[in-house]
Amino acid sequence: MSKNLKFVFLIIFVISNLSAQEIQFNTEEDYSRVTDGPYVFWKDNLATVEYVMNGHKVFQEIRLKESGAYSFNLEGFEQEFEISTYQPLVDPDTYTNVDKIFVISDIHGQYDRFVQILQNNKVIDAENNWIWEDGHLVILGDVVDRGPMVTECLWLIHKLETQAEIWNGKVHFLLGNHEIMLLRGDTRYMHEKYQVVADKLGRSYYKFFAEDSEFGRWFRSKNTVIKINGILFVHAGLHPKIISRNYTFADINEAVRENIDAPENSIKFSDFLNFLFKDDGPFWYRGYFEDTKSSPQIKQQELWDILDHFKASQIVVGHTTQDFINPFFKDKVIPVDTGIKYGDKGEGLLWKNGIFYRAKANGYLERLTF
Ligand code: ZN
Repeated sequence: MSKNLKFVFLIIFVISNLSAQEIQFNTEEDYSRVTDGPYVFWKDNLATVEYVMNGHKVFQEIRLKESGAYSFNLEGFEQEFEISTYQPLVDPDTYTNVDKIFVISDIHGQYDRFVQILQNNKVIDAENNWIWEDGHLVILGDVVDRGPMVTECLWLIHKLETQAEIWNGKVHFLLGNHEIMLLRGDTRYMHEKYQVVADKLGRSYYKFFAEDSEFGRWFRSKNTVIKINGILFVHAGLHPKIISRNYTFADINEAVRENIDAPENSIKFSDFLNFLFKDDGPFWYRGYFEDTKSSPQIKQQELWDILDHFKASQIVVGHTTQDFINPFFKDKVIPVDTGIKYGDKGEGLLWKNGIFYRAKANGYLERLTF
């Protein structure tokens, strides 16, 4: 190849790279014709349904004659939406004799990857309906923020909760630090699309998750830490302080629910709440992983003590992103956040007959524990 020809190739390469970047930039920025929602707000039996369709605000009211659940469809949205006048029930924190468990974490608005992992692992069918029979699906928090399809993820989980009950299965949507931040009005990590949606609907984004909203009531009923078949599940991890201070799961789950909306000052001056909502708490703790800026690594004996204290065999956590699911501390800690937030990465965790498997996005299983 002559020198000149090489030069021409180089120029073409540079130009094509530039235009690719430019196109991507434009599509990311243009949300003038955005569609998103619905967001539902309750006042007794009156539901106000708000959404954005092709950039326009749509608003409708549904007045229910009687209290109860109600389903509706909206033109332009594939899914049916089920809402209820009742406050959501609070789930127990302990389960036994569960047949199979599927775990996924840190979805961060990456709806397509979320659906792909669930479909290929036979948790849902091609129409996104529950087929996980009487199995449990654990979502370890951080469904919100970062990605552009948070609302779609939330309505899917909301629907699966109801469908699972019919099969005698169960969905556990545990709270992550990003749900807590959003409920407390911190929207620094929301995708830029939601600023456009919020502007068009004339509310701050976090108001879609206020106490009078369907999503907000639902989030505020959720647990932080649970145990299924002797396995612990929590968004980030449990710090050794939890046993030296003798906090129970009920203490933690209730205190989080009761104080999600507490002013910063009342959290600051309560030892327990300060622990719960800050760096060493179940939403943020990174001490199971190699030393990070926020936490020194836990000692093996401290971890054994936590498991003994709660009569648990393992602990499954999200929050700290790994390349793939690779248990450590002698398979006692199983990290599940494998970067679904990047859109084209990430996998799930399957537990069946006492054995854990990596459940890859293509449905391929790889045995993790023996
Ligand atoms: Zn997190």
